[in-house]
Amino acid sequence: MSITQGGYAIVVHGGAGSPCDYKDGCEQAAGRAVEELGISGDALEAAIAAVTVLEDDGRFNAGRGAALGLDGATVEMDASVMDTRGRLGAVACVQGIENPVLLARAVADTPHWFLAGDGANRFAHAIRHPTWDKISEHQREQHRQIVKKLAGSAQAMPGVDNQAFLRFWNYEKAADFPVGAACDTVGAVVRAPDGHFGVAASTGGSAPSLLGRVGDTPIIGSGFYAGPAGAVAATGIGEYIVRHLLAHRVYSWIEDGMPLEQALQRGIALFDKNVEVGLIAVSRLEAGALSNSGMPFAKLIQP
Ligand code: ASP
Repeated sequence: MSITQGGYAIVVHGGAGSPCDYKDGCEQAAGRAVEELGISGDALEAAIAAVTVLEDDGRFNAGRGAALGLDGATVEMDASVMDTRGRLGAVACVQGIENPVLLARAVADTPHWFLAGDGANRFAHAIRHPTWDKISEHQREQHRQIVKKLAGSAQAMPGVDNQAFLRFWNYEKAADFPVGAACDTVGAVVRAPDGHFGVAASTGGSAPSLLGRVGDTPIIGSGFYAGPAGAVAATGIGEYIVRHLLAHRVYSWIEDGMPLEQALQRGIALFDKNVEVGLIAVSRLEAGALSNSGMPFAKLIQP
C-alpha cells in the first residue's frame, strides 16, 4: 500500500534480535503515534510518543528496560530525535532519568545538538527532567544472561574476544564473574499528513559493554536520519552500524529513487549474518522494516 498526499505512515521497532512476541508493544506504540498525529499533526512528536511507550514498557532495552552494565548496577542510556523542520537532539550515557528520548528532544531546544555523560545528566537536573532509578527483575535477568554468555566459549559480541571485557574493565566495582550480546533498542519513523518526516530512537546500549560505551543510536547518520525524502532508524550492534553510516546511507539510496524495500535489503546486506542489524524507514510513498535476526515491529499506513 502506498501513501498518498495527506496520508501518514508510522513504523516502530523493538530492536534487532528482540523476541518477535513483543510485537504487541510496538503496536501499542504505533497507536500512540496515531493519537499524537491527531492532536499535533507533528511527525517528530508522533515518533517521540511511540518511543516513550516502548521506554515505559520495561521489556525493551530502552528507558525502564535498559540493559544493566556489566557491573550489574549501572544503566547508561542513549537517545536521539530528528525531523525535517530542523529539530535535532541527542543524549548519550545518561543515568537515572526517565524517558531519555524526551531529554534528547529537550536538547534540540538548546544551542547544541548532543549532550553526553555528566553534562547531559546535569542538564536533565537543570530542566527538572523526571528521574528513574529502579532496576527491574527483567533487567537483572538480562544481565545474568549476558554474564553467562561471557563465561561461555562463544563470542558474546561478534568479532570480539570475550576476555576483552575484563582486559579493559573500567567500572568502579571489580568484575566478579568468569569470562568465556544482546540488542534491542527501540525506534520510530513517521511521515505526517503535512509531508514532514520525524525519527526518534532510544537504547540502553548493546550488551556486553564497557562503561561509557556509545553505539550508533545517538549518532546522526548512523542510528538515525531524517531529510526531505524520508526518515530511517537502525538497530543492532552499534560498533558495526557506525562504520557504514547506515541510516544516512539507506536514506541516500531512497533519496536517489531506489524503492524503499530494496534500500532496506541493500542496507542489511552490508553486514555479516552473525551481526544483528535491523532497519525501519518511511519515504514519501512507502514504509517498511527489515532485519536479519528477527525484530518486533509495527507498521501503520493511512493512505
Ligand atoms: N544499536 C544499539 C547500540 O549499539 C543497540 C541496539 O540496536 O539494540 O547501542
